[in-house]
Amino acid sequence: MHRIAVLTSGGDSPGMNPAIRAVTRTALHAGCEVFGVYRGYAGLIQNDMRRLEYKDVGGIIQRGGTMLLTARSPEFMTPAGREKAMENLRWHGIEGLVVIGGDGSLRGAAALTAEHGLPTICLPGTIDNDMYGTDMSIGADTALNTVLEAIDKIKDTASSHQRAFIIETMGRHSGYLALMGGLAGGAEAILIPEIPDTTIEDVVEVIKRSFRKGKTNCVIVAAEGAHLNAQTIQDQINQIDAEESGFSFSFRTRATILGHIQRGGSPSAFDRTLATRLGSGAVELLLSGKNGGLVGMQSRKLTVTPYDEVLANPKVLDAKLYELSKILDRY
Ligand code: ADP
Repeated sequence: MHRIAVLTSGGDSPGMNPAIRAVTRTALHAGCEVFGVYRGYAGLIQNDMRRLEYKDVGGIIQRGGTMLLTARSPEFMTPAGREKAMENLRWHGIEGLVVIGGDGSLRGAAALTAEHGLPTICLPGTIDNDMYGTDMSIGADTALNTVLEAIDKIKDTASSHQRAFIIETMGRHSGYLALMGGLAGGAEAILIPEIPDTTIEDVVEVIKRSFRKGKTNCVIVAAEGAHLNAQTIQDQINQIDAEESGFSFSFRTRATILGHIQRGGSPSAFDRTLATRLGSGAVELLLSGKNGGLVGMQSRKLTVTPYDEVLANPKVLDAKLYELSKILDRY
């Protein structure tokens, strides 16, 4: 294999840049030529790619986002779109492709390999940490630290006002950031899509109990896709009047939606090293003739999991940690 391409696709995550750098430099070191594709699969269809040299990926290891830009491409979801993409790859003589992205991006790579026989390898790039085949995905650790910083800051103001705060993390289908952020931040309750067992009555009780016990603040962390989101909790609790609440101070809550700040920022040391190891591992796999899978890190070892297996298995959240959060934080 003499010529490979690399692209980032779907939602960006901090650590994509160190991954691009590792892919590029490992491949150059092995004597390959490297092409960077801009705007993910959209750029592949529009033939928006150019050669990357050693210096082109310099100065990016500490930057969030992706220097190759990212996009969502509905056209690539059609066989005709993928045929166009393949024509461009053939035209450039590209023999292997590294895709950095989430589940959707992996489906795209799997389709290219299945339909056209193009060797592809995927790297898990998503802050949701919801991909099977790796303990951690690139960007999840940095995002978790952003969530934690926000929880700590909100606790300061929550204490000053004796208020309950509900913090919403990203994660439409994944409770990873909410669970781990809540656990590390000492939240009084955590709501995640995987375990929809907390009712609004439970949340009210948690808040009351924490104030009764003399806590000066109460933080609830809810994932965006939880059965009760932050706004719903805020609206329902704010309807409870002071008399009913039995407290002298106002029984008001505030919802804070963290949103896209969770995607940004300089990648953590963990994400940079993970991205570096996976990026380099992806190239080594391609060059040794292995492809069609997700390169991940499991129990500190580099692993490859076939696309079919990744797509057939949901990543299971550690339910024990959820139970632990209840034991530690609700009392
Ligand atoms: P992520 O990779 O972060 O999960 P998306 O789900 O938006 O993000 O996927 C990114 C892109 O991958 C899509 O815009 C599309 O071009 C491609 N893609 C997603 N699903 C498929 C699929 N089933 N077949 C082919 N391409 C897909």
